[in-house]
Amino acid sequence: MTVTFPDGSFPWPQNFRAAASFTFDVDAESCVLAHDPGATGRMSLMGHQAYGPRVGTPRLLRLLERQDIRATFFVPGYTAECYPDTVRAIADGGHEIAHHGYLHEPMQGVDESTEADYLDRGLEALARVGVHPIGYRAPWWEMNWHTPRLLAERGFRYDTSLLDDDVPYRLATSGPDSASLIEIPVDWALDDWEQYAFYPGWTGSGIIEDPEKALQMWLLEARARHAEGGCFVLTNHPFLSGRPAKAHALERLIEQVKALEGMWVVPLREITAHAESVCGPAHVHERLSSVSV
Ligand SMILES: [Zn+2]
Repeated sequence: MTVTFPDGSFPWPQNFRAAASFTFDVDAESCVLAHDPGATGRMSLMGHQAYGPRVGTPRLLRLLERQDIRATFFVPGYTAECYPDTVRAIADGGHEIAHHGYLHEPMQGVDESTEADYLDRGLEALARVGVHPIGYRAPWWEMNWHTPRLLAERGFRYDTSLLDDDVPYRLATSGPDSASLIEIPVDWALDDWEQYAFYPGWTGSGIIEDPEKALQMWLLEARARHAEGGCFVLTNHPFLSGRPAKAHALERLIEQVKALEGMWVVPLREITAHAESVCGPAHVHERLSSVSV
């Protein structure tokens, strides 16, 4: 599909052959409350989620500082309202802050005007802490066909929620001549939720994997994407990967990814700026007509 470059590889900036970005979704309580507002009554579950902004994010910020890299943090509006000091600490570390819904709303089947309200409410909450994001990640990576246009209308320059390529591309918001965004694709294999999320009565039957296993799996992905000139985008949640052994494994991963020759380790805003300069015509996604069975 996509922007195919003549020799099949993506033209990264001079001296780089692949890119990597470490991203963090600071969901905190929002991802629970969007599904069950009554969960505020569960003290332990609320504390498990609050660990992200309270303890996990500060630990991850120290880790990123030690490794001297900048990352991208996706912050739901509700998190920004509850934890403004955490948001300020992320910004003070030189990291990018981007949009991740207001209350991490489930987007599947949501109509256009409702989704527009979620986006605007998230933007307003971020603006109150001085953040004006250029990037968006849909909660649960769930995009609707109308979402790209809603993003473009609000001045977003990139999205990172689709799972249909290994490198960035230009995403049409409706027809080929319409406004476009940069899409930076993601992958469920590169999300710590599948490795570590476990909470009785909330995450289902998830198990907590050995951080060594997650490290090996992600390192294999990083090496393969590096070998192919691709883009490695890792998604971590501070209430999961901000815990001690998981953060320790993540730091070792970062060290090894940085050591790959010609790996460009930057926040998504920098990948976006570069992609805007090299990506060709926007790709129009064809919507399948409904299937009768
Ligand atoms: Zn999330």
